Amino acid sequence: MADSGGGGCPEPPNFPASIAVFKQAYRNWSGEISIDAIWTATAATPQDVVTLANWAHTNGWRIRARGMAHNWSPIGVDPDATCDTPMLLVDTTTNLTAVSVDTVASPPTVTAQTGIDLLSLHTALQGAGLGLTNCPAPGALSLGGALTVNGHGTSVPAVGEQLVQGHTFGSLSNLLRSVTAVVWDPEQQAYALRTFQRSDPEMGALCVHLGRAFLIEVTLQVGANARLRCNSYRSQSAADLFAAPGSGSTAKTFADFLDESGRVETILYPFTDNPWLKVWSVTPDKPFWSREVSEPYNYPFSDNIPVEVSNILSQIVGGNAAITPAFGATMALVTDAGLTGTLSWDLWGWSKDVQLYIKPTTLRVAECGFAVSCSRADLQRVLSEFHQQYLSMQQAYRDRGEYPMNGPVEIRVTGMDRPEDCLMPGAQVPLLSAARPWPSRPDWDCVVFFNILSVPGTPLAPTYYAELEAWFYANYASYAGVRVEWSKGWAYTDAGAYTNDETLQVRIPAAFTAGMPVDADFRAAVDMLDRLDPFRIFSTRFLDRLMPRSADLNADGIVESGDLSNLLLDWGSPAGPADLNTDGSVNGGDIGDMMLRWGERA
Ligand SMILES: Cc1cc2nc3c(=O)[nH]c(=O)nc-3n(C[C@H](O)[C@H](O)[C@H](O)COP(=O)(O)OP(=O)(O)OC[C@H]3O[C@@H](n4cnc5c(N)ncnc54)[C@H](O)[C@@H]3O)c2cc1C
Repeated sequence: MADSGGGGCPEPPNFPASIAVFKQAYRNWSGEISIDAIWTATAATPQDVVTLANWAHTNGWRIRARGMAHNWSPIGVDPDATCDTPMLLVDTTTNLTAVSVDTVASPPTVTAQTGIDLLSLHTALQGAGLGLTNCPAPGALSLGGALTVNGHGTSVPAVGEQLVQGHTFGSLSNLLRSVTAVVWDPEQQAYALRTFQRSDPEMGALCVHLGRAFLIEVTLQVGANARLRCNSYRSQSAADLFAAPGSGSTAKTFADFLDESGRVETILYPFTDNPWLKVWSVTPDKPFWSREVSEPYNYPFSDNIPVEVSNILSQIVGGNAAITPAFGATMALVTDAGLTGTLSWDLWGWSKDVQLYIKPTTLRVAECGFAVSCSRADLQRVLSEFHQQYLSMQQAYRDRGEYPMNGPVEIRVTGMDRPEDCLMPGAQVPLLSAARPWPSRPDWDCVVFFNILSVPGTPLAPTYYAELEAWFYANYASYAGVRVEWSKGWAYTDAGAYTNDETLQVRIPAAFTAGMPVDADFRAAVDMLDRLDPFRIFSTRFLDRLMPRSADLNADGIVESGDLSNLLLDWGSPAGPADLNTDGSVNGGDIGDMMLRWGERA
């Protein structure tokens, strides 16, 4: 057994001799979870994960699947874990990456091990003439990580558009046809590999499991690849795009763009009037004015932070928060210049090359994630009410000299995870998906995803997010449904994300329970996951809190003795100074370090 950490914590006891174990640092996307050393092993084969699960069970340890660690929420690793914590990270991304495409099946399928990254998955599909309609924007996410949290992009049917066979307008999880997972086998009294079909009841919980399971291999249905055009606009004002329905404005709204093309994203920088509007449309033939692309990541200016932006950020980080509006304006200018300089206003190519646009070098910021289910008829109302609230909070904080939000607001819209999109009789609903349909509200046919970004550690950011989150739950209660985006920030109090007991214990379960059958509600999903892993070796203290065992609940359905204070996040220490590139630019990861130091001082 290797020990790369050089002393300190005792080695995991009785560790399987056939598998190397070592200490490794863990850092989540924003650096807000940063741990110097955690015991880690690399699974060479699926059987290794079984061996490790049985070792963990026998020795009282826990196992955490590790993908790319491009995540915010503490569903992977508790922030206060150390190499003294009896928890083993198991890296999937080195060896569990096999992929094969079956083009003869109807619909076609792709079978992949969960450590494969999404770019490799897309590439394999593209090679076989296949593609995805709705997928996350980065290519550097593991498939296992993306499925854990119902990874999604932005797509709903344009007016008159029919779903192409094999596709879904819902999340990646809704494409699952089967999974092979490591689960407890009562007959063997041991953990073992087992394959579940989408029609098996357990799949309701396994499609989106938040890290309460360990998936080894999955089969997704897929469909014909599409050529997409992506037009960027900076000329449409937020006031027009997010106008209240019936406001009399004749300019095109967000809902109008969505009706036309079905695939829209807005990125609104703070204190600016016009967002970066991206509109994708299915376009079989290359339009004359479009630039054809044959690789993803076609917005390099948003992946490597230019020197103008890093200079302003340095000043903000240095304590001059009042220049936040200048930061927003500069980001907008950089976007304009970047789109022009790289000829990227109008792109055309295969779906992967226009849908993947975030590289790991992009700015490493913190963000909240809220998912509002509503009917398409109410979509514009949902957006306009949010925009008014956003503006009024921005102004109220500014009037007090406070600038808690210094990153953009990103808005995307998806369809629901309709099990009928999965062309398998009896396909289960992904019970814990943020895009899960609401049986009592069949008219809610889309989900608006709101992300608001801010530098990690920005003063008053938690207070701002807590106020906004409370507004989400209160404002939409009468005509829409609010859920959280699992990978991002939620359950805020002034103390930070993931600390709001009411959200954790009441609001989140309610969003998967109200109007749902009792054998398919939040508790049913937790119970299923507990049956598959009765010893909770695939869990964390935070997940235990979010998804307590039924036996630990009181009559009100909550855990009485729970004390969230031990989950309050002990954010880690930042890394070294930012490195300038030869052209004076700074890559986003390094900016993140600067920001963390600022956050520490504040
Ligand atoms: C810059 C950025 C942009 C993003 N954009 C999008 C987006 O467009 N759409 C979107 O939906 N999401 C997006 N995300 C969120 C992302 O999809 C999730 O954070 C995802 O979980 C990260 O995958 P990962 O491989 O990094 O997983 P990790 O962070 O390593 O793990 C996340 C969770 O998944 C679990 N897990 C990983 N592999 C397995 C497995 N094989 N079996 C069981 N559990 C497993 C882990 O235990 C952990 O609980 C973005 C994230 C970042 C940082």
